[in-house]
Amino acid sequence: MRTSDAQTLIVEKNPNPVADSERDALLLNPVFGRVFTDHMVTIEYSRERGWQNGKVRPHAALQLDLATLVLHYAQEIFEGMKAYRLPEGGSTLFRPGANARRFRNSAERLAMAPLPEELFIESVRALVRIDQKWIPGGDGAALYIRPFMIATEAVLGMKPSAEYLYCVVACPVGSYFKVGSPSVTLWISDQYTRAAPGGTGDAKCGGNYAASLAAQAEATREGCDQVVFLDAVERRWVEELGGMNVFFVFDDGSIQTPPLTGTILPGITRDSLIVLARDMGLAVREEPYAIDQWQEDALSGRLREAFACGTAAVVTSIGNVKGRQYNFTVGDGGAGPVTGRLKDALLDIQNGRVEDRHGWLDRL
Ligand SMILES: *Cc1c(COP(=O)(O)O)cnc(C)c1O
Repeated sequence: MRTSDAQTLIVEKNPNPVADSERDALLLNPVFGRVFTDHMVTIEYSRERGWQNGKVRPHAALQLDLATLVLHYAQEIFEGMKAYRLPEGGSTLFRPGANARRFRNSAERLAMAPLPEELFIESVRALVRIDQKWIPGGDGAALYIRPFMIATEAVLGMKPSAEYLYCVVACPVGSYFKVGSPSVTLWISDQYTRAAPGGTGDAKCGGNYAASLAAQAEATREGCDQVVFLDAVERRWVEELGGMNVFFVFDDGSIQTPPLTGTILPGITRDSLIVLARDMGLAVREEPYAIDQWQEDALSGRLREAFACGTAAVVTSIGNVKGRQYNFTVGDGGAGPVTGRLKDALLDIQNGRVEDRHGWLDRL
């Protein structure tokens, strides 16, 4: 146990951790986001005292005043990342510095206190170290880590909070989509948009998700797995799914993904796949792609594959695409070969099965 300056975390071990046998049973078939590890991290911020009182402590509920700002004005941001079990023992994070940087950018956009990037990384490492036994083994399984920050000043005034609480919780996860489904079906939302220029589309904040739920519910009603959003200005350019970026694979072997123009969340999976695709010698374009073009290319066969990507779902093939004016299938509707190669290349690095040539792993 280390004692405090702002950069160190005090460890209070959970006196009643889940029993080994019970935990092992839970790890066999974890349901996404329902089972949490024995510990959590909390760090407080106040305008006068800065970041303080950082702790790794037993996972527990919070008590909040009913005036707490986050409950009224949604001043909240989060991250999503994973820890993976390594074949030689131990575990690793994947590009935690990229999450730390994005978390700071999100904080700035939401007028919140930025957490020092080193403290973000250290908090995640500390939680994974103490709850190491909670990392499931097996294909596609990992420990999902959810750092987040809420505005905690108790006042109904409409202003940035003077106090914040940063937390990290973690849960063992298996595959995000139903096991065995080779691809997802998308619903093109023509009624709702996700992000407008100047808005919060490139910040990872809960408000973006709250605003996307009606569109997601519509997709579910239409028998689709996920919604795909078009740009808010022309309602023409494909942007991303509710929580995943999107890629297209063409018959000349090239790959395309929409550019980061401020309305798309800059995914770390997206960025990593661009690098890995170029390593494979594939041409990658970050260029806008129109929904009509998507349908035309799918019908003509110029478009061979499409996939969605993000930390939670990794890489998932897009099979059918539906909308009020659209109905088409990409390729044969199943998982394509380029998608598969990219997914394997990413998972091989994350699971420590190949050399980490880009220095993306943070071994613990
Ligand atoms: C988190 C997120 C992604 C994926 O980002 P990763 O860093 O790859 O996990 C994509 N879109 C949205 C809207 C997101 O919130």
